[in-house]
Amino acid sequence: MTSKSAAAAARATVHGYPRQGQHRELKKAIEGYWKGQVTADALRGTAAGLRRRHWQQLADAGIDEVPTGDFSYYDHVLDTSVMVGAIPARHRDAVAADALDGYFAMARGNQEVAPLEMTKWFDTNYHYLVPELGPDTVFAADSARQVAEFKEAAALGLTGRPVLVGPVTYLLLAKPAPGVAAGFEPLTLLDRLLPVYAEVLADLRAAGAEWVQLDEPALVQDRTPAELNAAARAYRDLGTLTDRPKLLVASYFDRLGDALPVLAKAPVDGLALDFTDAAAANLDALAAVGGLPDKRLVAGVVNGRNIWINDLERSLSTLGTLLGLAGRVDIASSCSLLHVPLDAAAERDIDPQVARWLAFARQKTAEIVTLARGLAQGTGAITAELAANRADLASRTASALTRDPAVRARAAAVTDADVHRSAPYADRAAAQRSHLRLPLLPTTTIGSFPQTAELRTARADLRAGRIGTDAYEERIAAEIREVLAFQEKAGIDVLVHGEPERNDMVQYFAEQLTGYLATRHGWVQSYGTRYVRPPILAGDISRPEPMTVRWTAYAQSVTDRPVKGMLTGPVTMLAWSFVRDDQPLADTARQVALALRDEVGDLEANGTSVIQVDEPALRETLPLRAADRAAYLAWATEAFRLTTGGVRPDTQIHTHMCYAEFGDIVQAIDDLDADVISLEAARSHMQVARELASHGYPREAGPGVYDIHSPRIPGADEVTALLRKGLEAIPPERLWVNPDCGLKTRGWPEVRTSLENLVTAARTVRGGLSGTAS
Ligand code: GLN
Ligand code: ZN
Repeated sequence: MTSKSAAAAARATVHGYPRQGQHRELKKAIEGYWKGQVTADALRGTAAGLRRRHWQQLADAGIDEVPTGDFSYYDHVLDTSVMVGAIPARHRDAVAADALDGYFAMARGNQEVAPLEMTKWFDTNYHYLVPELGPDTVFAADSARQVAEFKEAAALGLTGRPVLVGPVTYLLLAKPAPGVAAGFEPLTLLDRLLPVYAEVLADLRAAGAEWVQLDEPALVQDRTPAELNAAARAYRDLGTLTDRPKLLVASYFDRLGDALPVLAKAPVDGLALDFTDAAAANLDALAAVGGLPDKRLVAGVVNGRNIWINDLERSLSTLGTLLGLAGRVDIASSCSLLHVPLDAAAERDIDPQVARWLAFARQKTAEIVTLARGLAQGTGAITAELAANRADLASRTASALTRDPAVRARAAAVTDADVHRSAPYADRAAAQRSHLRLPLLPTTTIGSFPQTAELRTARADLRAGRIGTDAYEERIAAEIREVLAFQEKAGIDVLVHGEPERNDMVQYFAEQLTGYLATRHGWVQSYGTRYVRPPILAGDISRPEPMTVRWTAYAQSVTDRPVKGMLTGPVTMLAWSFVRDDQPLADTARQVALALRDEVGDLEANGTSVIQVDEPALRETLPLRAADRAAYLAWATEAFRLTTGGVRPDTQIHTHMCYAEFGDIVQAIDDLDADVISLEAARSHMQVARELASHGYPREAGPGVYDIHSPRIPGADEVTALLRKGLEAIPPERLWVNPDCGLKTRGWPEVRTSLENLVTAARTVRGGLSGTAS
């Protein structure tokens, strides 16, 4: 094919679409079903209606080929487990009794059975349910849902392209089922799984599907030669089936790297590649294999993960290069639009000038269609769109929101001294000891206390105008007094105010920082029926006023014990927001860090001697490819140190992270130079303490001794035993006693007893340490 015919054939598509509906109809229907208020038929009706509406939206916008089968009641990886018959033994009865209830039991568990484990989908904030496989797993094809949804689209007269999680990614995302040896590698099941995929593909072909998409995002991660061989084998086998639809293997979230030559050689009919951040690397790799002369290339030039308008001219230039490299070039989002909200036009509260820079799913769809038209008919066919796009991009660049000279000057002036504490750790530790006068094995909590129904009601009442600010604030103050009184009585050493004024640990700060935007309807699926509304880092960041000083100082004014100030760290502020795409993440992180640094300084000036800067997202933001990690960790640790580096030696900086597997970032954790770190550890039985010790972690640490993910109350004996284990790795001068994470999702009765037990255990262990008393 010549590049001219490749251009003339250019079509528009997307890899997937938001599922929930503009008013989160799906969430409401599913949760109603769980409560018994919505029948299964009504739920199915709502779901079918949403699918129809969304396909129609895509078709009306000019999308030539709509994705099917990307819809889900909960999660597409769980749907894949159903499709291949990988139902865990403990769920089989429930699934046999009722497929829908069984499905939700796998997703959420019930009285009798635990759900599948949930974890993050690559480096997004979407969570999937981890397949559980073992040497005895027997796969069986169930193509019913995929076939039915393809036919639904066909009945509307639309060309559908079923989207499946590919077999290699499915196996790479799986883990050994309970009871299966940890060394078991799910990928060894590939030969058993491929015939099941073959059957599903044949069924889809029989239903009329011309193309089927197999998503293989796991191939954008570093892969061993054995894993690459498995991919080669999978697509050789599937590609050489006789009765099959055309196969499009889709990659996204990063460059394909070593997997690109493997897939280029495979007998499949098309590849989808990410040409957003990974554009240069994918272009080079494509050129290196001599292009894809016999394949369809689906070019993901419109970013499916951010909420910014596309630079249409830049995309056209990328597409122009691609025309010379493939038999046919189609235009798409870089990944499923699942990761962005549905419609920016619904955001009526955002300044119209700024709103023009935003593209949610519907706007991205329009961009893709415009690009396809431009490619097929020449730029003359999209002159008006290009002019408008150029003007919007220019207005963004020139805006006072995105270019605050004071913020930029300050960020440019950051020195090495700003990212270093003024004294080495040994001196700080001594100064903090005499300033804080804490016992050995000091007790503390991670920040939040139970967010009670009364607190949520008070917030809703304030929003609805049923109560005034004064009444709301009195409610918050009363809650803080109660939380402090409990901690004093229980004998906790370093207190917290409990965070009752915070709806969310990122949103609370975003609302108070200049440069951040909030959306009203910008919901994005986090998992199942849980949707979040990430704030948007839109401009240069500054802090007009202190954000936490008032409540922290209030708390300190009603107790003699130290109250720990609580801030969300710069990396987490970025990770749980939509970030700017017009400057490096490092620059955005530095601006946020400077704003937080001012907050830290104000807290210290107002008498706060212990300040915790939470960074639960430090590890989850780690780039997918190892080669990119050092650069990320460098800016991430710098941002943390910039936030915390300006305090006096006797002010104690804490940080907190909520995961037990931190082996790959332990050096970065050390580099944060925090005086104290609390980590989740209760479930892994103080392995965290041993890992810190074997790394030679030199400062204080509190591996969690109370698993807050469970309503279970840990007994004092159990905590005592955990602490004694911890002491085998960490000396008593450096060991803290705390829960795994914040308490906001727990109930008061369990929290009360658990923390009392924790203090009892700390006292018992202290008493056993020679020459000390509590
Ligand atoms: N300080 C926060 C809290 O206690 C930390 C939450 C988190 O680590 N995710 O709720
Ligand atoms: Zn946590």
